[in-house]
Amino acid sequence: MMSRVYVLDAGVLFTTWTTKMDNAVLLTTSNIMAEVRNKPSQLRAETLLTLDRLRVVNPESVYLERVSKTAKQSGDSSVLSAVDIELISLALMLREEGEDVTLVSSDFSVLNTSSHLGIKYIDPSGKFRKEITWLLRCPACHYKSETPTRDSECPVCGTTMQRTPLRGRKRS
Ligand SMILES: [Zn+2]
Repeated sequence: MMSRVYVLDAGVLFTTWTTKMDNAVLLTTSNIMAEVRNKPSQLRAETLLTLDRLRVVNPESVYLERVSKTAKQSGDSSVLSAVDIELISLALMLREEGEDVTLVSSDFSVLNTSSHLGIKYIDPSGKFRKEITWLLRCPACHYKSETPTRDSECPVCGTTMQRTPLRGRKRS
């Protein structure tokens, strides 16, 4: 039988969300664990680890490449950290291994990239509404680029370009 697996972002480990998930398998990466530094959250995470309710797993590099590629296409790569990409990659790897995996995060770019990859997710904050594809737009000359990169300068006039939604798709 497939077990239901939840991949947790650091933001979730700062909350008591995990206490509501009695029978679930909870997973995160070692770099996410390293971000959990405040005492109450650390204690909660350590207790879950001791009880084997929470396990630390890191994704294989092939998944990092796939997530990075999708993040470039969705326009999220300029705001995703390496730790974010690892987290999404872990969810992708588990799904490919046949797990019934759900990513839990309130980070908009993490959720957006996951949505583009067709990964199931829960946003405990409830703020993420729809999938977006970003493009870069020059505020000066209105040049548009559909391949956003970090700190892009407008190739026409040199102004720093801004992210803007190309299109949005309602959550299905
Ligand atoms: Zn320009």
